[in-house]
Amino acid sequence: MIELKLIGASGRPLCRWCHKELGETSSEFCSEHCSESHRLATPAQRLRQHVFLRDRGVCHKCGMDCEELKQTILHIVSLYGSQYARSVLMTTGFKKLEATNLAQDPSQDFWIIEDRDGTPESAETTCRACASRRRKRRSNRSEPGEDGDLFDDHQGP
Ligand SMILES: [Zn+2]
Ligand SMILES: [Zn+2]
Repeated sequence: MIELKLIGASGRPLCRWCHKELGETSSEFCSEHCSESHRLATPAQRLRQHVFLRDRGVCHKCGMDCEELKQTILHIVSLYGSQYARSVLMTTGFKKLEATNLAQDPSQDFWIIEDRDGTPESAETTCRACASRRRKRRSNRSEPGEDGDLFDDHQGP
């Protein structure tokens, strides 16, 4: 169930796509553009849009602001090249493979969605550094943890 009823701070309904507060309108969207974007989006894209507007790319686990980092890395790449951007990413906590990938194409998103059942309530913004740590732990549990992270695993029943 992805369709939430969105209500703004002042009690007015929000546009279902961009979450802007709606004025006097019977429409669920603020504009033709939003209505069209929503109509064309897949359920996964709708969930992603919802989570992005809610969290603005801030990782639920480590608090990293992925959008800010992305802008920084785009800037670094344009000034110093992707080699340097990669080393910056690695000091930020990204594994070598992920850092290389992001430094080569910093226009991609630095975060993913992790959810338990596909609902917006269970969907969490997860930076790709945290995501790859979790993947690694899942695939290779016998290896001693190299980063001693503290967050819950949310492994569900
Ligand atoms: Zn809108
Ligand atoms: Zn994180």
